Amino acid sequence: MEPHYKIAHIASECVPYIKTGGLADMVGALPKALKKLGHEVIVILPMYAMIDYSRHHLQPTLGPLGVWMGNTEEWCAVHTAQMGEVPVYFIEAHQYFARPGLYHDADFNDYLDNPRRFGFFTRAALQLCHDLGFAADVIHCHDWQSALAPAYLKIWHWDDLLLGQTASLLTIHNLAYQGVYSSAHYDYLGLQWGNFTPDKFEDHGRINFLKGGIQYADMVNTVSPTYALETRTPEMSYGLSPFLNGKGGNFTGILNGADYDTWDPSVDAYIPARFSSRDLRGKAICKRELQRRFLLEEAADTPVIGVVSRLVSQKGLDLLAQALENALQNMQIQFVILGSGDKRLEAFYGDLPGRYPGRVGSYLGYNDELSHWIEAGSDFFIMPSIYEPCGLNQMYSLRYGTLPIVRATGGLEDTVQQYDERTGSGTGFKFKDATPGAIFDTIGWAISTYYDRPYHIYQMIQAAMEQDFSWERNAKAYIDAYKKAIASHQTSAASG
Ligand code: ADP
Repeated sequence: MEPHYKIAHIASECVPYIKTGGLADMVGALPKALKKLGHEVIVILPMYAMIDYSRHHLQPTLGPLGVWMGNTEEWCAVHTAQMGEVPVYFIEAHQYFARPGLYHDADFNDYLDNPRRFGFFTRAALQLCHDLGFAADVIHCHDWQSALAPAYLKIWHWDDLLLGQTASLLTIHNLAYQGVYSSAHYDYLGLQWGNFTPDKFEDHGRINFLKGGIQYADMVNTVSPTYALETRTPEMSYGLSPFLNGKGGNFTGILNGADYDTWDPSVDAYIPARFSSRDLRGKAICKRELQRRFLLEEAADTPVIGVVSRLVSQKGLDLLAQALENALQNMQIQFVILGSGDKRLEAFYGDLPGRYPGRVGSYLGYNDELSHWIEAGSDFFIMPSIYEPCGLNQMYSLRYGTLPIVRATGGLEDTVQQYDERTGSGTGFKFKDATPGAIFDTIGWAISTYYDRPYHIYQMIQAAMEQDFSWERNAKAYIDAYKKAIASHQTSAASG
């Protein structure tokens, strides 16, 4: 018989409450899928000022929660809401979370007290499990923000009746963000100076949250098999490959899923018309409405290439900037982009519609509805990422029959099948080199296929829309990872 686990997710983002990237999509979907498989799951989040209290029906719960940080006890309040059948808890601490950003101010400067904010949050989350009497089999933490949870479990809760047996799984959504901060915060975090060593928290005199998390977690995973392989190499691990390799078989890659309750054109609540692989008429309407909304020429036969992304160099958008003008000057295409981030990239993509009126549309900012419109109304979706731990937009694109043009890295390599010109098989267009030339050539390949071999495009759309990256499937891989984390925890506890 399959075991039924008690699992607590500790995370800094979760759809539908608060989101800046793919982590939020995963934390919003995996717990529900685990619950459907019969496991008992809770999610614990910070109570940010921007969470809409009444829309999400939050309510106060428990009394004040006392949390020991270093030698001082701090207090916070707890609120709760239901995400489907999954209870979600919010840690309210005004001094840390009542501000306009999640991790940084409007100019993208990290909040200086981030180590305290997320250290406190993580300890409070474990204290909450304790006060709730939630004897978790596994704490599932995400990225540097909650990466201290495995360490706190082993340093502070090892002899605890409730959490003493609790194993931990750390999911790394992006290895580039490690949470590296001044050692001046170390006392506050209560991690004990004996653990401030290069094989644990110390990183060139500073504290590295993620490294410590990797070392203390019973099991570590990243969000696609190819990214897991890439991060085992020095070139792509930002210094952490020795530690990841040190985990041996306890470091693995599990592909993210897509939440098809939200991201499927046959049920999508945002888009102008619904459609399916059997009847694509709605997609043509979505394209026309997208062209209208972005003031593009309403040309049904001109291919639209879309982007929805954080505007950062990781996403290859500097390289795309260098290839795009050449493409616009040489090919009959339209281009739309939704994103925010790097000011230089915002300036470039923000100015582009002025230079190519009727052919380029841009929206600088964050907009859920528009992201669905672009997925539904574009013909192609481009992701020239330098690296991509998993990437969700290409999975959404596939479901919307919007063929991805991607660099063959990380999750993009795992989820997009290369087009074969002889047979018309495949679901997208992939390239290897991270150069403007390779991007230009691959856009050209996709566009010539669109004009010269439309029957192949149709065949690819059909194949793309049939791909299944649902969480129901991928959640089972997490169950296996939990099993392994628990076994590993028991072995290490037995060996002392
Ligand atoms: P990452 O987590 O690295 O940002 P992913 O592809 O894994 O990249 O996930 C990005 C998620 O954030 C997707 O759901 C995407 O639609 C969404 N997203 C990114 N930028 C925006 C934006 N400007 N407006 C709306 N949604 C966005």
